[in-house]
Amino acid sequence: MGYPPLDPTLTGDALERQLLATWKHERLFERTQEAMRYGPPFVFYEGPPTANGRPGIHHVFARTIKDLVCRYHTMLGQGVTRIAGWDTHGLPVEIEVERTLGINGKKQIEAYGVEKFNRLCRESVFTYKTDWESLSERIAYWLDYAHPYVTYTNEYIETVWWLLKRLHDKALLYRGHKVLPYCPRCGTALSSHELALGYEEVQTNSVYVTFPLAQDPKRQLLIWTTTPWTLLANIAVAVHPDLEYGEYDVNGTHYIVAVERAGDVHVGGRPLAQAPRVAGYHGRDLVGQKYVRPLEVVPLPQEGQRAIVVAGGFVSAKEGTGLVHMAPAFGADDYAVGQQYGLAFVNPVAPDGTFQGTRWEEINGRLVTDKETNRLIIERLKHEGRWVETRPYTHSYPFCWRCDSALIYYARSSWFVRTTAVKTRMLEVNAEIGWHPPEVGSGRFGEWLENNVDWALSRDRYWGTPLNVWECEREREHREVIGSYAELAERWGGGKRLPPDFDAHKPHIDGYTWRCRECGGTMRRVSEVIDAWFDSGAMPYAQWHYPFEHQADFKAHFPADFICEGVDQTRGWFYSLLAIGVAAFDALVYKQVIVNEHVLDALGQKMSKSRGNVVNPWQVIEAFGADAVRLFLLGQSQVWVRKRFDKAQIPDVAGGFLNTWRHTYKFFADYVGDWTPESSAPPVAERAPADRWVLARLDEVVATVREAWNGYDVSVGVRAAMDFVVLAPAAPFLADWLHRALTGTSVHLASFPADQGRREPELLQAMAAVRKLASLARAARETRGLAVRQPVAKLQVAVPAAVKGRAFADLLDILAAEVNTKGVEVAGSDHELVRLKGKADFRSLGRRYGKDTPRAAAAVSQLTAEALQALERGEPVRAGEFELQPEDVTVTREVVSDWAVQADGPYVAAVDPRLSEDLIQEGLARELVNRVQRLRKEAGYEYATRIELSVAGADDILAAVSAFQGFVAGETLARKVLLGAVLPEADVTREVDIEARRVTIGLRRHDGRKGGTR
Ligand SMILES: [Zn+2]
Ligand SMILES: [Zn+2]
Repeated sequence: MGYPPLDPTLTGDALERQLLATWKHERLFERTQEAMRYGPPFVFYEGPPTANGRPGIHHVFARTIKDLVCRYHTMLGQGVTRIAGWDTHGLPVEIEVERTLGINGKKQIEAYGVEKFNRLCRESVFTYKTDWESLSERIAYWLDYAHPYVTYTNEYIETVWWLLKRLHDKALLYRGHKVLPYCPRCGTALSSHELALGYEEVQTNSVYVTFPLAQDPKRQLLIWTTTPWTLLANIAVAVHPDLEYGEYDVNGTHYIVAVERAGDVHVGGRPLAQAPRVAGYHGRDLVGQKYVRPLEVVPLPQEGQRAIVVAGGFVSAKEGTGLVHMAPAFGADDYAVGQQYGLAFVNPVAPDGTFQGTRWEEINGRLVTDKETNRLIIERLKHEGRWVETRPYTHSYPFCWRCDSALIYYARSSWFVRTTAVKTRMLEVNAEIGWHPPEVGSGRFGEWLENNVDWALSRDRYWGTPLNVWECEREREHREVIGSYAELAERWGGGKRLPPDFDAHKPHIDGYTWRCRECGGTMRRVSEVIDAWFDSGAMPYAQWHYPFEHQADFKAHFPADFICEGVDQTRGWFYSLLAIGVAAFDALVYKQVIVNEHVLDALGQKMSKSRGNVVNPWQVIEAFGADAVRLFLLGQSQVWVRKRFDKAQIPDVAGGFLNTWRHTYKFFADYVGDWTPESSAPPVAERAPADRWVLARLDEVVATVREAWNGYDVSVGVRAAMDFVVLAPAAPFLADWLHRALTGTSVHLASFPADQGRREPELLQAMAAVRKLASLARAARETRGLAVRQPVAKLQVAVPAAVKGRAFADLLDILAAEVNTKGVEVAGSDHELVRLKGKADFRSLGRRYGKDTPRAAAAVSQLTAEALQALERGEPVRAGEFELQPEDVTVTREVVSDWAVQADGPYVAAVDPRLSEDLIQEGLARELVNRVQRLRKEAGYEYATRIELSVAGADDILAAVSAFQGFVAGETLARKVLLGAVLPEADVTREVDIEARRVTIGLRRHDGRKGGTR
């Protein structure tokens, strides 16, 4: 039978596509799942990608890591859960649909119709699903795509409701009023983890503004703000009670600022600190003072204090003036102060972010974050005599992570999960998680938990899991949280079934109303939907429709043994999984997590559409094959180090390795013929050193890879595997091709090799030395232009004393064959082959020996080889009166003889370049054999075909063949060799050049049949 040939013209891409077809035909993935079904479970949770937008190279990265870990555990005999999932709700989907419809914002959505809009959202979700599935399949990311969890299904939503009700029962769900980061474009508040996604450095115009005291307008509070638009809603000014304030006289006006700030605040172009200070006191002395508000264009409510100085512990003298203007509608601190002091509340900004209902016509309808709005306000402040200075200010400002609009802080009614109540438990649970790398768990994620604020859960949007809270129209506190559809049916219809086409989404769900049990008013669902991060964090339960179905499945798949996502998920999915697990069940949700870093472009820049540097994964795979891309991504550097994706580097990282295995296999298949591994191979100890070396090296690699992968260190394992070959989880295609070629079965149904404890450290070290010497010897031969097939008489080598031993001696035959030499001699020490010379470093010596340096340098030139070797080892040596340090001397090597010598530290290979007549003849004979072998192939002979051979032409070639006839005949399987004539009726006759000599070679089958067998 023999082993199948590997077509050298077959590209990686083509080879992999052939295998994909085979896998599909064999249902290989399903078979691996079935085979390991009863193995000990290994639970993996797929972080659901938003099926919205095409997958990029960074998705290939995360998916490759996930796949490697899952394949590895499958090969360890574990039953690995590999359920696909899709995150389908939320703003990204809405925005996509808005774009398709050419509409913008909530008003237009409502005009279009929420029902139609949500139907489009549902349909659009899977626009990209096929892209995701086919790319995942192409890179061999094995998941069960036929039975995914999908967050918009009624079942999924029911579980989410059940979880929310559970939180409500634990008093962890509440309606609050909070100032939240808010996107006026999307019309929704952002949770703090979403907020963290969108900070950018920007420059804005900050202004210094005066607030004259009501009692004495020539005394003026000076405030500084980076958001002048909030001044329209100014209600108070806060000072720090303990801070020192001063009044500075500029032309009769007394400006009040914190003393520490006076050097930085300018009036009329000069720092206040240079003006006479006419009064000084603590902040608390100012509290209660009334002032005159700026920009009186917004009607204020009757109730509440206003235009008053208050105390705030948050005020500092780090920047600004040490006085902070307060607009309770637009700042978290402001709102808290408002509650504390009973301040009036005024909000002239509509939910779309524009000014509404002010007495200033020109400003109504303008977006507050617009530059022009800012300009108009500053103009008016100048006009009113309140403006002191405009100063450009560079700071980190939050933008909507989804639509890039500038966010504003905005007081809204909102629903929260009281995560702060379980903060301590979250920290404890986090400490149990195995983070890879650990610093994400203790650093980025741990700090995130330390600074936990309640999870702002609700969104004023349309396409999402509807918040399952119903409130009484008459009295909001008459409230019910519905935890299942059965409960909904019971409330709504008194046991009547829900309609068969029941849809839990807006607007349908809002048709379900009933009578308030307390007052008879109508119970209506609140308008909000929930944060889609809550959906994805609910997947451990909702993928099973727990607790309504699959209770046993849920229990068997909780918690996860392993998850893996990008570093941005510390505030996303890593958090939502953990927060829900701890808040609802006090449970650990995932045990091990690999956090992969971002993939940057070749120059280290973030990939983005606008830069045009986004890598199309399909193109890269087509060019190199998925295995090469996988090996590159996994092996180039640690997965938690930022990765520059330079496709030019793929061949450097993966190409050499992949070529080696192709050549190795070809060599094997060409020469091995029908050989099969003997079932009764001799005991290891009796085998040839090369065999024992391979086995010991295999065990060493297996142990390294297992240790790395058991510890979730993907890259170290991949690199160790690439040094040898244990590859299936990392490069599933090539590994499978090879395994099938050798054994006829898929590697993915095989077990991961076990370390059988064959160590032989002495042999491994000796083989490493032999490999190094072989490459030095080859390099040495090249320096004298000695062709590969030209044997040489002798190779002399030197190695460190520690290497010399029986194992090394046993391998010298291998070395001789590799280097094509008649003999190998081991020198007693390397200075028999090369002369070590010491060169003094005058600068280094000069520092210690000053004017004695020339004498010290002379001592260096007298050093013995032993002394120089000691210096090389990093040991100091004495030379007469001088103590020499390693840095004082550069050790060089000079070739002693006329042999061809190459050295690498203490490893030296010296090749005797002198060729006897015999050696030259043998070289020519070997060249001839090489030409004959090529012609055998050309003739289509099999490896065992016996031939007749004729050689005619140059005399010295004929003489060489004659001298080495036995060798030539044996190598070429020639039963007859005809010299000086040309075979009649040859299958092939060819003139060839051998070392600038011309000969004619003829070949024919020994049995006389003509032609090849192909
Ligand atoms: Zn937005
Ligand atoms: Zn009621």
